[in-house]
Amino acid sequence: MRFAIGVDLGGTSLRVAAVDESGRVMERLSSPVKTLAGRDQVIDQLCELAQVLIAKHGASNNPEATLAGIGVGVPGIIQLETGQLRRSPNLPGWEDFRVRDEIERRLGAPNGIKIALDNDANLAALGEKWLGAGRDVDSMCLITLGTGVGGGLIFNGRIWHGFLGMAGELGHVMVSESGSQCGCGSTGCLETKASATAIVLKARAAIQSSSDSLLSKAVASGEPLTAALVFRCAQEGDDVARRIYASVGKYLGIGLAGLVNALNLPLYVLGGGVAEAWDAYAPAMFKQLQRSSYIYAEGGTRVVQSQLRGEAGLLGAAYLALDGALKAK
Ligand SMILES: [Zn+2]
Repeated sequence: MRFAIGVDLGGTSLRVAAVDESGRVMERLSSPVKTLAGRDQVIDQLCELAQVLIAKHGASNNPEATLAGIGVGVPGIIQLETGQLRRSPNLPGWEDFRVRDEIERRLGAPNGIKIALDNDANLAALGEKWLGAGRDVDSMCLITLGTGVGGGLIFNGRIWHGFLGMAGELGHVMVSESGSQCGCGSTGCLETKASATAIVLKARAAIQSSSDSLLSKAVASGEPLTAALVFRCAQEGDDVARRIYASVGKYLGIGLAGLVNALNLPLYVLGGGVAEAWDAYAPAMFKQLQRSSYIYAEGGTRVVQSQLRGEAGLLGAAYLALDGALKAK
């Protein structure tokens, strides 16, 4: 029985799982990440959890088990050849850090275990392709709608990295000429229109201009203003909240129309926390897609919600190690 260790390293939590080649999660462990404690401590934590799982499920305990390797997903842009993190807003102080070498030094090298590293959104796309909404297609696109907007492209079963390794930055596709400034330096990016951050900003502005909406009342009563609260108010019929999600849908539709027209993939999957508000944004999204993409209007292209939800990245990380990505090295 082959299995792999999948690691999902986020800005706030670290999750590690032993996953067999059929996709069954044998065991999972998690721990909060203290990014402020520094990267060495986070890597310590990561190696410790992985070691617990390897000791328990590996050959030392089960003679039939073969560890394929360790797949690690990290937020940020990765130099694939060197396993170096080039840029990561969620992991301050990790710039230019050779993450793969460091894990290999502590964990891999003494035991001959190979480590594979990739961007977390790419791995979420890979996980969704392996066990989720993309099981029946060879190629697909995943857009993650969270604090920011990210994405991953799978072409013929493989992650498409692009020539600089920066492909899939779908949050920075421009969807509006008059949009606000984005963290990437551009304006009008999808991230400034469809992220949880954008929803909260919009809701805050709306509350300031009118105090009699359901949303205003909820916030006035002490509820924290989040994208999830805006969704709840939209479901309860609040016009202000509904308009905010209709705008999210419209801009998602514009972004998706560009992708559909450029790529003609059979499947686009929406994941991340904001994607859960499907009922609130999907009608406007499909209306816009129909209007802006004649290829979508032909029929057959599917846009769906993620099936694996928060698990996609962790499972994709394990798959990266199981899939033979490590054999080539
Ligand atoms: Zn941007």
